[in-house]
Amino acid sequence: MKKPLALVTGAAGFVGSHLAERLLSEGFSVVGVDNLCTGRLRNLESFQDHPDFQFLKADLIEGVPADLRDRPWDWIFHFASPASPPKYFQMPLETLRINSEGTRHLLELCQKSGSKFFYASTSEVYGDPLVHPQAESYWGNVNPIGVRSIYDEAKRYGEAITYAYHRSHQVDVRVIRIFNTYGPRMDPEDGRVVTNLMFQALKNQPLTLYGDGLQTRSFQFVSDLVEGVCRLMRTDYVWPVNLGNPGEFTILEFAERVRSLIPSARENVFLPLPSDDPKQRKPDIGLAKKLLDWEPKINLEQGLAITLDYFKTRET
Ligand code: UDP
Repeated sequence: MKKPLALVTGAAGFVGSHLAERLLSEGFSVVGVDNLCTGRLRNLESFQDHPDFQFLKADLIEGVPADLRDRPWDWIFHFASPASPPKYFQMPLETLRINSEGTRHLLELCQKSGSKFFYASTSEVYGDPLVHPQAESYWGNVNPIGVRSIYDEAKRYGEAITYAYHRSHQVDVRVIRIFNTYGPRMDPEDGRVVTNLMFQALKNQPLTLYGDGLQTRSFQFVSDLVEGVCRLMRTDYVWPVNLGNPGEFTILEFAERVRSLIPSARENVFLPLPSDDPKQRKPDIGLAKKLLDWEPKINLEQGLAITLDYFKTRET
């Protein structure tokens, strides 16, 4: 029997590489595309020689590469985008364009090929939320001209154009809103709280906390996210679904978790809070539970231990 064919953009990224590997294990042929602006080829190492995997370095902002245009795609997953605040601050126009023009190019391809489209959106569409926890029905509190708008509004536009193609051209779509996710293959240089604090602890440096450290985040382990993605693919539900771990921690509490895991960690130092940094974030996962019979399996302690093991053996 012919294998189903999937395109994964951002395949050399942290989440994209885990998804590509999972799809291969489920019997898909997978073409991974990445322009490597934040993705890393080392993330492909464990499956790059798989006979059903092909990698192409390309930038979807410029359009769909010619040799990908006429294939019988079953699924097109759009995960390509800078995603950590320091990286999207460095690449504002690329971030806006890959989620707008890039998304449009892929939706056109879906319309032509009859493929289903899967868009990786984000909890950032809720901005600095005034509703807690955040359910899919919340429209958000986003500063349209703030420093984070390049990411937040790009992803909001990405959702909007996805539903425009769904409504006008009947493209079959799935959208997830991803809450803070961590695990092996994160880029140590991405500047997120998980990587910054773990590497600072490993290098015997003080832990940098922005603001008073009382802002909250909810941390999801990457395998839980990928499981949710694969379950959503197999439903007919076209509207956005939150995927995240509802366990909520202040950044101070998170630093304590890192300290108990990595005893070489030093004291906290407090640095200015970046502007528009959300004060609280926690997913309402009621919809995912009901629709997908899904909930996160890996708690923060277990996930950080697995991540530490990876960082120690592969990144230091
Ligand atoms: N943060 C911090 N120290 C760091 C990096 C981040 O205190 O070295 C804070 C950041 O201000 C935010 C939270 O940790 O409140 C999560 O930041 P991250 O960049 O991981 O993701 P975000 O949820 O902001 O997209």
